[in-house]
Amino acid sequence: MSDTADAVVVGGGTVGAWCAYFLRQAGLARVVLIEKGLLGQGASSRAAGVVRMQGGTPEAVRLGQWSRRFYLSQRDEIGTDSGFTEQGYLLPCFTEAEVTAAHARMEMQAALGVPVRWLDPAELDAANPTLAPGQTLGGTFCAQDGFIAPPRNVAAYTVALIRSGVEVRERVAFRGLSSGGRGVVVETSQGPIHPGLVVLTGGPKLAEVGRLAGLRIPAGGARHQVAVTERHPDLDPARVPMVFDLAAGLYWRPEEGGLLFGMSNPDEPPGENREVDEEYLAKMRARLAALVPVTAGLGLRRLWAATIDYTPDHLPIIGRAPGLDRVTVACAGGAGMMWGPGVARAAADVALTGSSDVLDVSPLGLDRFDEAGHSRLATDPIALPFPERIASS
Ligand SMILES: Cc1cc2nc3c(=O)[nH]c(=O)nc-3n(C[C@H](O)[C@H](O)[C@H](O)COP(=O)(O)OP(=O)(O)OC[C@H]3O[C@@H](n4cnc5c(N)ncnc54)[C@H](O)[C@@H]3O)c2cc1C
Repeated sequence: MSDTADAVVVGGGTVGAWCAYFLRQAGLARVVLIEKGLLGQGASSRAAGVVRMQGGTPEAVRLGQWSRRFYLSQRDEIGTDSGFTEQGYLLPCFTEAEVTAAHARMEMQAALGVPVRWLDPAELDAANPTLAPGQTLGGTFCAQDGFIAPPRNVAAYTVALIRSGVEVRERVAFRGLSSGGRGVVVETSQGPIHPGLVVLTGGPKLAEVGRLAGLRIPAGGARHQVAVTERHPDLDPARVPMVFDLAAGLYWRPEEGGLLFGMSNPDEPPGENREVDEEYLAKMRARLAALVPVTAGLGLRRLWAATIDYTPDHLPIIGRAPGLDRVTVACAGGAGMMWGPGVARAAADVALTGSSDVLDVSPLGLDRFDEAGHSRLATDPIALPFPERIASS
């Protein structure tokens, strides 16, 4: 007997898993999620968890708003949650050009309903007593931004998948698409599945998933490092808003009485890499110590490097695959904690109906990229300084 499903979702990260859940919630009877390893083994369990509505484009803002609302509603909906903590997020400015850009951005964000406000230098120092005073020209602050606990998010979507009746198949790899009598067939390491709909995800491996499906998807992976300092009384969460030093590509937030900080090296060639780069870490520790002096003498309790997904314009990909009406592609562009549920719900909507009420997805499809992978959209300015080209491999 042939194996059939109403929908097959590839990839058990936060995008694929929440998408499978939303497809099931929308009423599809048989939703199958295939994951080549174990749920959450990709980027989704290794993230820093930052959730920010202070996006650099209207799409980024909408996805941040939707995802934050979803995180807040999870306990009622699925009986558990991803651990969203409303910490407040500060984006300091160090140059006049940054101040001008921040004011323009704030206007756009406020028009979309984000409660963001400008803090002048003295207000900013007062709001963040751990910051060396007199360093900034002010900055934007949103008290409703926060963070989730990424491993808890994996646990939350595992619960949601099981409770909603999604059929989860771990250790089953996607091998490609072929055409059968009634349409597209999903080829897997455990045989073919005849689906109504297909959603392709893969995070840092999405380009490879695309290649298997005969699609060119300009998404890549790059090394990203995260460290957690020892505890210190000055780093009590009540005293530490989250901070993004945008120009340095360095961000931090409170974690278990210490500071969690993350960084990507913009000069590093893209590609999979999970080795710790001690030299770059030392450079970012020096920058952090200049801004948050108490961290200078603190040891590290945890340190990891993982591959983060990115797109050339730092925006998500949500859209049907060109020429394959029943196949939808979804990628959070390195922001799967802050946008993941919104991207997943929009991808489920697009797979089912072609559009979404989460946001207008029409600019976000694969057709925005040219042959060389360049996007015709303006790059999201509030992003880590990822490489803007895609690795040739
Ligand atoms: C260190 C680090 C810190 C981060 N911090 C943040 C943050 O603070 N805020 C934020 O918003 N984002 C952050 N991110 C980014 C975020 O983690 C990702 O955008 C998000 O996890 C991507 O989710 P995904 O489901 O698309 O990919 P993944 O979680 O990588 O899931 C993809 C899954 O697809 C599976 N797969 C791949 N190929 C196949 C195949 N052929 N067959 C079957 N399955 C396959 C993989 O095994 C994997 O489990 C961070 C990422 C990293 C690495």
